[in-house]
Amino acid sequence: MKHESPAWPDGPRSTLRDWQFARLRRYLRDTVLPFSKHYRELFAQAKLSTDDLRTPDDLRRIPFTSKADLAVRADGRDVVRDFVLVPDKAVLSKRPSTILKALLRGKSAVAESFEREFRPILLTSTTGRSADPVPFLFSAHDIDNLRLAGARLMSVCAADREMKMLNMFPFAPHLAFWFTHYAGKEFGVFVLDSGGGKSMGTEGNLRLIKKIKPDVLIGMPTFLYHVMTECVREGIKLPNVKKLVVGGEKAPAGMRIKLRALAREMGAEKVDVMSTYGFTEAKLAWAECPYHEDAGSAGYHIHPDLALIEIVDPETGEPRGEGEPGEIVCTPLDGRGSVVLRYRTGDIIDGGLYHDPCPSCGRKIPRLMGYISRRSEVREMHIDKIKGQLVDFNHLEHVLDDVAHIGTWQVELRKRNDDPLEVDELVLHVEAEAGVDERKLKEELTQHVGAELEIHPNRIEFHTGEEMRTMQGVGTALKESRLVDHRPKLDGAPVAQGKGGAA
Ligand SMILES: [Zn+2]
Repeated sequence: MKHESPAWPDGPRSTLRDWQFARLRRYLRDTVLPFSKHYRELFAQAKLSTDDLRTPDDLRRIPFTSKADLAVRADGRDVVRDFVLVPDKAVLSKRPSTILKALLRGKSAVAESFEREFRPILLTSTTGRSADPVPFLFSAHDIDNLRLAGARLMSVCAADREMKMLNMFPFAPHLAFWFTHYAGKEFGVFVLDSGGGKSMGTEGNLRLIKKIKPDVLIGMPTFLYHVMTECVREGIKLPNVKKLVVGGEKAPAGMRIKLRALAREMGAEKVDVMSTYGFTEAKLAWAECPYHEDAGSAGYHIHPDLALIEIVDPETGEPRGEGEPGEIVCTPLDGRGSVVLRYRTGDIIDGGLYHDPCPSCGRKIPRLMGYISRRSEVREMHIDKIKGQLVDFNHLEHVLDDVAHIGTWQVELRKRNDDPLEVDELVLHVEAEAGVDERKLKEELTQHVGAELEIHPNRIEFHTGEEMRTMQGVGTALKESRLVDHRPKLDGAPVAQGKGGAA
């Protein structure tokens, strides 16, 4: 199958690196620098040309791009357009491929192919709540790559064309929804896009599950958890379900255990729970392959022809070695429309990048291994200090997701008596499983969180699933709010902010 025969070289990391670097140089020279206002100016300022990029070590000479570079400037200037490739006909007409095509197929065919390559026809945008959404444009060429990457993702997840799939990502200009949509079309498998809770509500999704009996459920882990909990409550069986594919936010081990348990209650004995990782700025997503529960995930399988992934030291920006933790940095190798180079995701991966064959599926595709934490959001939200103490929210998230007998949860930060000068309070809202001794659970939670994080919740409040969903905006918001900050600011009203995982 074409998606399974990669055109990139096998072998050691260095061979692949050389190959990717050559590809990047060509891409910069022929496509990015002539047509991107931002990078043309940036390279000129830095007195940098593609001739200066001789070996893969020179990659570090290309300046990083970060979220701040894409934000609207203080003077109101919207710079995001400067990242969109706008073709220059005079430059294009000098491409050897253009001349050849014009000779063979005529001028109108050439004009047509430029339209396909460059004209933006799709938009997805970032979903951060603390910042304005940043739009990213796709041309038909980008959609071809989205389809290719989508079909590969289907293969990595060991999908089968006979399967029926339900895409429950929220219907929105959001990468997860459109990526799933195009993945299904390219792979040639039946995918029904329900639009998540936004367009049909929970009831609508349950109706579809009863009607089409999908083999694969795809969506955000918290929404999937919610829908499957409702299925169990209503006694809906789905013994044929084989795969749960989650994305849009993190799916820690505890969440996966709960999803598997729910699938068992729905009559499915063996299900693979696989997570995807992607972000708007990459215009791509990657997936885990099925793995044995005891062995653990073999990581996200990435595609070296479409993007160059680096792991760098989050403080110094220096490259990290094989299997070393650090910040994920992404450079597209064949993008059109909106293009950002060496994009600093702010996502910290604790395993790093591996190039050896996958121990689960044997593919010779580089893999991103380990837990991914969003350093940028943690910083933006000032939640690094709770009650005067440094707390890693990502760790707290893993800890809570791994606690037995609780469903969804939310951490609320308050000030005592809502007085901005008072001390911080941490309130833990949880949905307890039916029949659980709440007093005992409270003790366990306090002890568990205390032992792991050296911080004790001031209060633990129990809620019904319905209450939790309203509090979290499940199915209506693009990211479930698992952390809300209700600490009043000295200079204004309380600010509520959400916390999501990978976009
Ligand atoms: Zn694998």
